[in-house]
Amino acid sequence: MPSSAPTPAALLAAAPLDQVPHAFWWAAAVLFGANVGSFLNVVAHRLPMGLSVVRPRSRCPECRTPIGALDNIPILSWMLLRGRCRGCKGRISARYAAVEALTGVLFAVVVHVLVIAPGAAGEPSRWIWAGAVAVLTAALLAASLIDLDHTILPDEITLGWMWPAPVVAALVPELTLGADLGAPAWLPGACEDWPVRVIAAVASLAGIVVGGGIVWGIRASGSLILGKEAMGFGDVKFQGMIGGWTGPAGALLSLVAASVVGAAAGVVRMIVTKDRYVPFGPFLAIGAWLFMLWGGAFLGWYLGLLGRG
Ligand SMILES: [Zn+2]
Repeated sequence: MPSSAPTPAALLAAAPLDQVPHAFWWAAAVLFGANVGSFLNVVAHRLPMGLSVVRPRSRCPECRTPIGALDNIPILSWMLLRGRCRGCKGRISARYAAVEALTGVLFAVVVHVLVIAPGAAGEPSRWIWAGAVAVLTAALLAASLIDLDHTILPDEITLGWMWPAPVVAALVPELTLGADLGAPAWLPGACEDWPVRVIAAVASLAGIVVGGGIVWGIRASGSLILGKEAMGFGDVKFQGMIGGWTGPAGALLSLVAASVVGAAAGVVRMIVTKDRYVPFGPFLAIGAWLFMLWGGAFLGWYLGLLGRG
């Protein structure tokens, strides 16, 4: 379980970043992420049913036997038991192991890009930033799984993670302001002397308004033009939450990225399955995740192109 893994801060205190092979940090992130992924499987399964995500312990979907701790090791147990329950030999979906592996890989990428990569400098503040991004990564993943299964984005995740966003942004200003913590271009000049944490929280609030507002606008005009619902209201709240964690630039750019990825995937899916409905939540999640890791670099490159960088 996550509680048994040492915290990044403890690891950092024990061994400075550059004295430990990078492979150690990647492996630690994969292991920690796989455990979080195991919990996300539980969340994705139980949250839509209104059940507690903490209790009781997981059971076999076929015979309802509680799964022992040794049979509940992320990825490994599923492989050793060859995707079957120890008791009844009933099939256990490969998706559980896949979600655990994916979460592990995503966490390793977060740690690599934000802490380890050249230029990222493994200062404690970078670990805190990476930790916050990992938290949102987990929320985005859980929401995506639930949207894929039930075509809903639950309020527990969208609204539940939207309200704390300005506070989180004040604590981790890199989330909405980027690595250089510069005042955003849209901020009135008179406000540029405000404390960085206040500006970060303002950027978070602006992100909620921009993210939720644009998707609301798309939804309203889609209904008007197509005469049917283009996006659900869950998408409005979801993109508002994403804007809260990434600021207005994140709300905009992640939506653009989501549309590009979503359009490509939608075409493939229509050809393969002839099914025209594709939940948009997972694409918003992918767009948000891409922005959190590479949005700053992308903006720097783009402003450079305009000769302003
Ligand atoms: Zn069973």
